[in-house]
Amino acid sequence: MVESAPTPTIPSPQPLDSTRFMAGDLCAYLECYLEPEQIKEVYRAYLFGAEAHEGQTRQSGEPYIFHPLAVAKTMAEMRMDYKSIIAAILHDVMEDTHISKERIIEEFGEDVAELVDGVSKLTHLKFRSKAEAQAENFRKMMLAITRDLRVILVKLADRLHNMRTLGALRPDKSRRVARETLDIYAPIAQRLGMNAIRRELELLGFAAHYPMRHKVLDAAVKKSRGHRKEVMQKIETAICGRMEEVGIEARIVGREKNLYSIYRKMKQKRLSFSEVYDVFAIRIIVADVDTCYRALGVAHNLYKPVPGRFKDYIAIPKANGYQSLHTVLFGPHGIPIEVQIRTEEMDRVAETGIAAHWLYKAGDRHSATAQDRAREWLKGVLEIQQAAGNSMEFLENVKVDLFPEEVYIFTPQGDIMELPRGATVVDFAYAVHSDVGNTCVAAKIDRRLAPLSTPLESGRTVQIITAPGARPNPAWLNFVVTGKARTAIRHYLKNLQQDEAVGLGRRLLEKALSVYELSLEQVPEERLRALLEELQLPDVKALLADVGLGNRMAALVARRLSVTEDADASAMETTPAGMGRPLAVKGTEGMVLSFAKCCNPIPGDPIVGVMSTGRGLVVHREHCRNVADYRDKPDKWITVEWAPDGSQEYAASVRIQTANKRGVLASLAAGIADMGSNIEHVSFDERDGHATTITFTLSVRNRKHLADIMRRLRRIPEVLRIARARG
Ligand code: MN
Repeated sequence: MVESAPTPTIPSPQPLDSTRFMAGDLCAYLECYLEPEQIKEVYRAYLFGAEAHEGQTRQSGEPYIFHPLAVAKTMAEMRMDYKSIIAAILHDVMEDTHISKERIIEEFGEDVAELVDGVSKLTHLKFRSKAEAQAENFRKMMLAITRDLRVILVKLADRLHNMRTLGALRPDKSRRVARETLDIYAPIAQRLGMNAIRRELELLGFAAHYPMRHKVLDAAVKKSRGHRKEVMQKIETAICGRMEEVGIEARIVGREKNLYSIYRKMKQKRLSFSEVYDVFAIRIIVADVDTCYRALGVAHNLYKPVPGRFKDYIAIPKANGYQSLHTVLFGPHGIPIEVQIRTEEMDRVAETGIAAHWLYKAGDRHSATAQDRAREWLKGVLEIQQAAGNSMEFLENVKVDLFPEEVYIFTPQGDIMELPRGATVVDFAYAVHSDVGNTCVAAKIDRRLAPLSTPLESGRTVQIITAPGARPNPAWLNFVVTGKARTAIRHYLKNLQQDEAVGLGRRLLEKALSVYELSLEQVPEERLRALLEELQLPDVKALLADVGLGNRMAALVARRLSVTEDADASAMETTPAGMGRPLAVKGTEGMVLSFAKCCNPIPGDPIVGVMSTGRGLVVHREHCRNVADYRDKPDKWITVEWAPDGSQEYAASVRIQTANKRGVLASLAAGIADMGSNIEHVSFDERDGHATTITFTLSVRNRKHLADIMRRLRRIPEVLRIARARG
């Protein structure tokens, strides 16, 4: 964004040594908290990055690697772990050079590659709609899609350095970058408690976005600074001296309010410059909590405190975990002095927020997600809160940002889709397009195959795999959460049922007409129209669908269509539906054709069909007990035969009696798998001391396949008897 586009033409004006010096400086700094091997890795990353960016320069003319090294330095100042430092050094290589993620995995491992990839993803983040363009949403999205908060920290450090070197950009561009910094990055830093970075981002953003206001305020500050310095010196010396007298070791820091906070205070509280600025502020940093209170006593003893301005944020910390003692003193000549007293540790937390907690816990889990990290951090803050019983406002704010109700998912093209929490792969597919949803068969989440029912997490890249003939599965309705997916699936299934019903109805009617040596085509137009009118149906399609769904009997319709008005219809009355050419069935018309669960017919079995009102055709085995009930209702059952299509799989049940021995089930399962079949269900029916009866429901292609499986299982010594289960 801020960086210059790679311009590999002019050799860098700086000698290579200056970059090596910078890298050396970084490594020397790291020595204060990292292991030597880790620092070696950091240096290797520098060499790798410098080579990748070789020949590229920034807008300012410096070698490009200056920038990533500066970002790494900021990460080091926050005491971040070495992987974050490496990621900072490499944060632009995927973006601006030809280095792939795979290459980074090879060189520096999966963790570093994920971090670099995460930073690149954030760089690619683009506003797609007006709603997204609102800073608040954008911030939320940035945090949501980041699975590792270190990515955000690199991004903040990246932005910080870009702001520090903003001068090299065109004014209009730097204004836009400044706006973004004030709207998005500074608030994120604040959310994460990183006040040092937040302050600097604000200051630089203010200067670049409001150059005139900045200039005026800056001049005002400079004008009154000379006099202030003297007073400040006096106060500091006085406090320092008194602390020494009572034996308190303290570090005293004079604080000057930054221009942006002066500006904001003037604007928000409608104060004049001198009202805001003519306040002196110092910070006293001591070793431990006890000393904080002692130091407070010393300060109050030196200058009178302003009544009602003392606040104990150590006993009652601020909502973001901030701890300090605050007081205001009447200084020399009645000048108010704001004093903060705290420990080194409190100071670090106040300055670096979430980053301050990083190294302590970095060891225990290496791949903690952003949410885990944030949760841990919040938990810490929450504990302080509960102990203090303080306001939850900040926490609510952070929660909304860090644990949003939505998930944000990337398409393979890098677009972002927003979905409600709990949304699955199928919801995502329908969000992309209803055609994609209707034909999806599988998905890859971050390039790994995943089931369609998988709930999605923010920041994942999801690729949907579609197949031309595929169609929605009614079972999807059990797990989809979006209205769009639900409606689309229902709509599709309803249409599908309609289409299948028409198809089956046509075949049933043709079969019934064949008894009269007729076909639908041969039926005179006017006879058909008369029947539709009588039945109050709009068209032939509706008639066929009715027949297919079992709401109307094909035989009756055929008879009505076969005879003329004056013919003697009674002669035909006994014509059973089951007569004539058998109807060919295959397993593909799932919405109007089903195979009875009681007898599980498979290709090769003699079968009959029974029309069931509203459900269409149910296929049973010929000798199924349940079909016997229909024997006296010949108009309901239909002769059917298997269509010669062998690709489908069908369920079949076998009962196996085995000796009671350990491992029998395992050898049965192995035998079944051997024969290319799956176990869909298993139950133990009877058991005594010697034998067990097990019923398997298997998926098979046809009778021969089933016979082969049974033959294979019979060879297992423990198998005593094996037979196909009857309906
Ligand atoms: Mn960068």
